[in-house]
Amino acid sequence: MRIANVSGRLTVITGVGGVDVARASGGHFAADVSGVFDQWDQFRAWATGLEPEQVDPEHQVQVQDAQLGAPSPTPRQVFAIGLNYRDHAAEAGFDLPADLPPTFTKFPTCISAPHIGVHLPSDQVDWEVELAAVIARRADRVSADRAWDHVAGLTVGQDFSERRVQMVGPVPQFSLGKSYPGFGPLGPCLVTADELADRNDLALECTVNGEQVQKGRTSQMIFSVAELIARLSAICPLLPGDVIFTGTPAGVGMARTPPRYLCPGDQLVSTIEGIGSLHNTCLPALSQPVA
Ligand code: ZN
Repeated sequence: MRIANVSGRLTVITGVGGVDVARASGGHFAADVSGVFDQWDQFRAWATGLEPEQVDPEHQVQVQDAQLGAPSPTPRQVFAIGLNYRDHAAEAGFDLPADLPPTFTKFPTCISAPHIGVHLPSDQVDWEVELAAVIARRADRVSADRAWDHVAGLTVGQDFSERRVQMVGPVPQFSLGKSYPGFGPLGPCLVTADELADRNDLALECTVNGEQVQKGRTSQMIFSVAELIARLSAICPLLPGDVIFTGTPAGVGMARTPPRYLCPGDQLVSTIEGIGSLHNTCLPALSQPVA
């Protein structure tokens, strides 16, 4: 199953277009996308039985890119993982994590639509394509072999990172440096794992103005999606709709010589096999408020 947030309304994507869930279910499920994760099992059973050809034409919608929002638009918690690919840890100059994945948050206000234009707050904004997992049901001390039972689906995330704030002393500020408005686009849809040939091995890549800058496979992650859920939920419960950005492969701008960062006008495309692409245009900095 593939679902999308179309103009704020939960939509099932079928081979013949979108189905508006609130209308097609006669109001049994709300239009609000965030709420569906609290009723995931019921919703999934209903959506699995949907016969697209038999859906009332009035309940069908044309899905246009500009209408799409994040498939989990208001998560209560957003986890983001650093150094989860060996080649990225090496380029960043860090040792590999052993038992606990390095974890920070992207504050939820940064979660945004998949094709949003992103204002660059400085000349040190970097790219990080990432697989993002969305939680379907509360996960409290869940073992890795049961972890996938708690996943609603997978989507594409872009972990925009302002490196000056991220690395500022006396201690790094990963969470703030990665939480400017628009720094967490998600989408274009949420895909359940059964739709994918191998949920643990998906190609991912990032391009800037058509030039490939990152290329990897999610099978290269040090902590798999299941291992991340086990280790995170051992400490804090994961809640329906929560998002985990699972880390990025090598090829970020910071690690280049000289470093390369995003500029206004750049076109960033982040793609994961079987899910889709985010298209983000880089825009000039927002003006600061006048004191
Ligand atoms: Zn990242």
